[in-house]
Amino acid sequence: VFSTVEMAPRDPILGLTEAFNADTRTTKVNLGVGVYYDDAGKLPLLRAVRAAEEARMKNAPPRGYQPIEGAPAYNKAVQDLLFGQGAALTADGRVVTAQALGGTGALKIGADFLKRLLPQAKVYISDPSWENHRALFEAAGFEVDVYPYFDADTRGVRFDAMIAHLKALPASQIVLLHACCHNPTGADLTDAQWAEVVEVCKARNLVPFLDMAYQGFADGIDQDAVAVRQFVQSGLSFVISSSFSKSFSLYGERVGALSIVTASKDESARVLSQLKRTIRTNYSNPPTHGGAVVASVLATPELRSMWEEELGEMRERIRAMRTGLVDKLSARGVARDFSFVVRQRGMFSYTGLTVAQVDRLRDEFGIYAVSTGRICLAALNSKNIDYVADSLATILK
Ligand code: PMP
Repeated sequence: VFSTVEMAPRDPILGLTEAFNADTRTTKVNLGVGVYYDDAGKLPLLRAVRAAEEARMKNAPPRGYQPIEGAPAYNKAVQDLLFGQGAALTADGRVVTAQALGGTGALKIGADFLKRLLPQAKVYISDPSWENHRALFEAAGFEVDVYPYFDADTRGVRFDAMIAHLKALPASQIVLLHACCHNPTGADLTDAQWAEVVEVCKARNLVPFLDMAYQGFADGIDQDAVAVRQFVQSGLSFVISSSFSKSFSLYGERVGALSIVTASKDESARVLSQLKRTIRTNYSNPPTHGGAVVASVLATPELRSMWEEELGEMRERIRAMRTGLVDKLSARGVARDFSFVVRQRGMFSYTGLTVAQVDRLRDEFGIYAVSTGRICLAALNSKNIDYVADSLATILK
C-alpha cells in the first residue's frame, strides 16, 4: 500500500540544522535557527517559568482532560495580553479564545474554521512570509496568493504596492498579516501604515488574520500589540493566532491561542461552538502543562514582573546584537550600508546576502544562514559576533 509513496521535500531549515550539527569546526555558528538563544548560546529556561513549574509540580495536579477550548484562566490571560487588561471588547463578550498547540496549531484551527465559513475565499500572505503559512492554508483547502511586501532596495516594506494590492481585492478575502516582528524579513509596518491597512480592510470588507508570534520582542508587550489594538478600534471582526513559544521560551510545550473578535456576544457563542467542533476533530483538547505555567506566571504578580524583566532582557539582547553587528561591519570597512539591520525588528533580518554568499559563509567559515539571506540575530552572542563580522567583511569585500 505504501509502495507508491514519494519522499516529501526536506524542510530547508531543518536540513540546515542537520548540516550544522554534522560540521566539526569549533567556530561554527548557526544563524539559520528560528529560536532565541541567550548570550551563552543556550535556549533559556526562564526563571519565571521554572518558578511556576516548581509550584505546579509541588501540588502534583491531576492530568484530566481540559475543556475543548482550554483553560478559562489561560484564555483570559491571552486576551489581556492581546487587547490590554480589562479591554471593553473582552468585557462585552466580543472575543472567543481557544488555547492551541502553539502558533502553528492556532493557525491550523483558524484555517479549518474559516474554510468551512468561507469556502470560496482565497488567502493572501505577504511576499515573502513564514514558509509554513502557505503550506498550512493550502492544506486546509485554500488557494493561497501573495501581496507585495518586502522591498529588496530599502529592506523595508513596499507599502504603496502592498496597499494598492489590498485595495484591489474582492470582498471577503482572507489577508494574513504579521502583527509584529515579521518573519522572515524583520521589516514591520509603522503605526500610521497599520492605520491605512485597517482602513482598507474595512472598506474592502476583507477578513484580517493577524499572526502574533513575537509579542514583546520588538518594543514591548503593549507597543507590539499596536496592530491588534488598531483593528479593535476599527470595530472590525478579525482573527488572531498567538504564540508563547518565543516570549516564554516554551517552544516544545506548544502553547498558543486562537482568538476571534466578533460583532457581539451572541455571535461569539456561535463562533465558539464551531471552533470547538474544529478542535474536537483535530486533537480533541489541548495539553495542560504549558498553558497552566503561562497562566500562572501571568496571574502571579511577582512571576509576571520577573517574566516581563526576562522578556525585556531578550528584547534588549537582540537589539544589542543588531547594533553590534552593524557597528562591527562598518569598523571593518564594509562599504555596504547595513543600517537597515537596526531598523528591522524581532529575531530576523533579510540581509540581502546572495545564495553564493550564503554558500561561501558556510563552506569557508562554518556560518550557516538560510539561502534566502535570512539570519537570526538571536543566534549571535558576545563570543561569536566578532567572528561573524570578520567573516561577513571578508566575503563582502
Ligand atoms: N507564525 C510565525 C510568523 C512564526 O515565525 C512562527 C514560529 N516560527 C509561528 C507562527 C509558529 O509558532 P509556534 O512555534 O508557536 O507554532
